[in-house]
Amino acid sequence: MLLKVLLGLLCGVTASVAGGDEAQQGPLPLLMVSFDGFRADYLQRFPMPNLKLLYSQGVLVEQLTNVFITKTFPNHYTLVTGLYAESHGIVASNMYDPVSHKHFHAGQDQDPMWWSKAQPLWITALDSGYKTAAMMWPGSDVLISSRTPTHFLPYDFNVTFRQRIGNVTKWLLGNEKEPGVKFAALYWEEPDRSGHKYGPENTAVMTKVLKEVDDNIGLLVSKLKYNGLWGRINVIITSDHGMAQLSTERLIRLDDCIHPDDYTLVDSSPVAALIPHKDPKTLFTLLRTCHAHMTAYLKSDIPDRLHYRNNERIQPIILVADEGWSIVQRGNTLSRMGDHGYDNTLPSMHPFMAAAGPSFREGYRISNLKSVDIYPLMCHLLSVPPQPNNGSLSQARCLLAAEACGDLTLVISLVLGILLVLATIILLFRWRRNYRQSRSQPFQRLQVDDDEEPLFE
Ligand code: AMP
Ligand code: ZN
Ligand code: ZN
Repeated sequence: MLLKVLLGLLCGVTASVAGGDEAQQGPLPLLMVSFDGFRADYLQRFPMPNLKLLYSQGVLVEQLTNVFITKTFPNHYTLVTGLYAESHGIVASNMYDPVSHKHFHAGQDQDPMWWSKAQPLWITALDSGYKTAAMMWPGSDVLISSRTPTHFLPYDFNVTFRQRIGNVTKWLLGNEKEPGVKFAALYWEEPDRSGHKYGPENTAVMTKVLKEVDDNIGLLVSKLKYNGLWGRINVIITSDHGMAQLSTERLIRLDDCIHPDDYTLVDSSPVAALIPHKDPKTLFTLLRTCHAHMTAYLKSDIPDRLHYRNNERIQPIILVADEGWSIVQRGNTLSRMGDHGYDNTLPSMHPFMAAAGPSFREGYRISNLKSVDIYPLMCHLLSVPPQPNNGSLSQARCLLAAEACGDLTLVISLVLGILLVLATIILLFRWRRNYRQSRSQPFQRLQVDDDEEPLFE
């Protein structure tokens, strides 16, 4: 009870100055930027001065638990829907839909049927009367519920970061004819691309690439400052997944265990999706004992914790490689030195989240948050009613300035402190009473009449 009262006091909502502004002008604009494949521990391994300055003025979530499979398309859609992959339907970067018999690949992803099981924030915010924008974010150039964000550009990796942020700034500012957008999402391909090519353990290359990423963050902040947006906007910088180091010594060859004519491979590594051509159980029995570093699942047996079962686009057999292992059909070579997609409990698969702006606390950090929780946080910041989702605001709200939550250790120390003081007071009282009684003993022999006043108190 006491704990509840204290938590209530410490987590109590306090009216903020920003809250007053919001009542008049609506919520502050929100910009979410994703640097693809930014593994959480890059923050410890590389200098990143601009990013560190940003979260020193705001908040940092050291590790985000992303969703399985830890690939680009599923996780980017999770960030803007708050849904696990099985619920939003983008279950992999390569998919087959057995109902429509259609195939999905990056670059061949424009068919609305793939995306329409969920509604991304850039659409939901339109319904609240806001303009929205998305720059190259997966799914943002697709008609979802017959709509796109107010502003977007079709995916083109040749468009530089400077050009992307230039457009996003214009969309945020608006003009005489049109108000600025309230929500903008911006995507950038690095450090994912270099992480795949050279591997996350190639410190020399990754130092250079992460310096470029950090320079881009510096460019973003200066652009916002130059246009008078900094301090009037909330900015979230995050990513979709991390990256694991690969090696040619860690190959799992399917041809060593099963015949290629007996299945279709929909997605290959590190999570392979197979459609058996004959009895799934026979194929599964061969795969179950195929390799010590690969786990085979019949779809119905995929563990609940992965939230990766209830969708027809998840194939009858799923193979999951251990960290750093690659599943191939045959051969001894690898075209990449880094990869992701592995189990989402692995720290190497986790990205981070940093945020700054009037609605965020200053210089605050937490060690972990689920990536599904970012969507309810963004809806809260934009005062947009969230669509049904798998996230929660309970942990994320502690990142907000107006929700000054006490940290748990402080609360526990306070409660223990108060209990200790109470116990000491009770003990002191008891001791005093006993002491008085023991001191009054010798006088009992005086046989004072019962109804007389005691001699000593
Ligand atoms: P992956 O590493 O396979 O999970 O995916 C990352 C790659 O996806 C990036 O290097 C981009 O080139 C590509 N990509 C990202 N967004 C899109 C998009 N909207 N359309 C097509 N390809 C994309
Ligand atoms: Zn990615
Ligand atoms: Zn990637």
